[in-house]
Amino acid sequence: MNKRPLYFDYAATTPVDDRVIQVMVDCLGFEGNFGNPASGSHAFGQQARQSVELAREQVAQLINASAEQIIWTSGATESNNLALKGVAQASRESRGHIITSQIEHKAVLDTAYFLQQSGFDVTFLAPDKDGLVSAAKVSAALREDTLLVSLMLVNNELGTVNDIPGIGRVVREHGALFHVDAAQGAGKVAIDLAEWAVDLMSFSGHKIYGPKGIGALYVGPRARDRLQAQIHGGGHESGLRSGTLATHQIAGMGAAFAIASQSFDQELAHIQGLRQRLLKQLADVPGLQCNGCPTHRIPHTLSLTFTEGHFNSSALSSVLAYSATSACNSASKAPSHVLLALGHDAEKAGRTIRLSLGRFTREEDIDAAASAIKGAVAAPAPFWAVAQS
Ligand SMILES: *Cc1c(COP(=O)(O)O)cnc(C)c1O
Repeated sequence: MNKRPLYFDYAATTPVDDRVIQVMVDCLGFEGNFGNPASGSHAFGQQARQSVELAREQVAQLINASAEQIIWTSGATESNNLALKGVAQASRESRGHIITSQIEHKAVLDTAYFLQQSGFDVTFLAPDKDGLVSAAKVSAALREDTLLVSLMLVNNELGTVNDIPGIGRVVREHGALFHVDAAQGAGKVAIDLAEWAVDLMSFSGHKIYGPKGIGALYVGPRARDRLQAQIHGGGHESGLRSGTLATHQIAGMGAAFAIASQSFDQELAHIQGLRQRLLKQLADVPGLQCNGCPTHRIPHTLSLTFTEGHFNSSALSSVLAYSATSACNSASKAPSHVLLALGHDAEKAGRTIRLSLGRFTREEDIDAAASAIKGAVAAPAPFWAVAQS
C-alpha cells in the first residue's frame, strides 16, 4: 500500500473533527435524532428541529449575527449562487450592474458569467499586486445602476484578506447590496456582522472541520426582500431554500462553528507559529516568492513560487499533499486564474504551490515539508553522479 503523503491542503477541505463526528452520529439510526425537522406534530420531528436551531445559533454566534439570519444550503457554492442569482432575479430593473473581482472562487465567477449572459453588466475588478481589492477601487467602479457587489473575505489560493468593513461602508453609502464569500474566512478571521455593512455572506461546513455538502447563507435585513429563491418546494428556510433539512449535516456544521468559536485564539496562534517555522526553514531557498499581501492575510495559506532553477513537483507531491492551484481549478488543469490575475505567466504559475496548514498540522509535519521542498528545488545530481551510484 502506498504511504499517504502529509496533508497540506486544508484550504481544499478539512477532515471532520472527531467531536463533530459524534454530534453527527447522534442524528442517525433509529436510536438517534433522525426525525424530519419539518415534522412538528411529533417528538421526533421536534427534537430534530431543536438540533437544527441549536446549529443555527452556533453558526450565528461565530459571526455575530442572529440565528434567524442564517439560511441552510448545500455548501458555499449554492450560497454564492443564491446570493448572486437571487439578488439579480429579484431586481425589478430590466438591467443591472454587478461588481466582483477576477480572483473570486469559481462559484462566484461562473455565476457572474451566467448572469452576464442573461443580460447583466458585470465588472470584474483586477486585484492589486498583493491580491487585494481596495475600497477605493470598488468606489470608483460603482455606478448608478449597480445592484450588487460580491467580493471574498479570504482568497482561497493566496490567503489574502480583503478590507470587508471598509468596502462595506462604501457599498452601503451607495445603496447597492454587498455579498461576501467567507468560505475561507470562518474560524480564521474575526467576523462581526453586527458591525460590518454586509448584506449576504456565504459559508461552507467542510472548510471549518465540519462535513461536506452543507453550507449557509447569512441574509441581513436589507437583503431579505431582495432575494429570489433558487430552489422551490415546501417553503423551508423562510421560503428562501426549500428541501428537507439534513439534520446530521447541519448539526455537524453547527458543532464545527461552536468549536471554532471556543478555540479561535489558540488555533490562530498555533497556525502562526507553524507558518513562521516553515518560512524560517525555507528562508535560504533561492528565488522563493511568497504570493499575496504579506500583512493582510491569514497565516494558514501559503502560495509559494519557485522562481529560480529546478523544481521537481512530482517528487514533492509524493511526499506532500499540497495543491498546485485551487481544487476547483485542478479539474481543468488550466493555470490558476488567481495567479494569472497577479501577473504570473503560465510557466510561473506552474512553479507555484499552495500549502495550507490546519488544526491537525504538527511541528514535525512542517519540518518534513520544509526538507521535502528543499529537496524538490535542489539542482538535480549531474548525470555522471547518477550513473555511478
Ligand atoms: C470551497 C469554497 C467554496 C465552495 O464551497 P463548497 O461548500 O465546496 O461548495 C466557495 N468559495 C470559496 C472561497 C471556497 O474556498
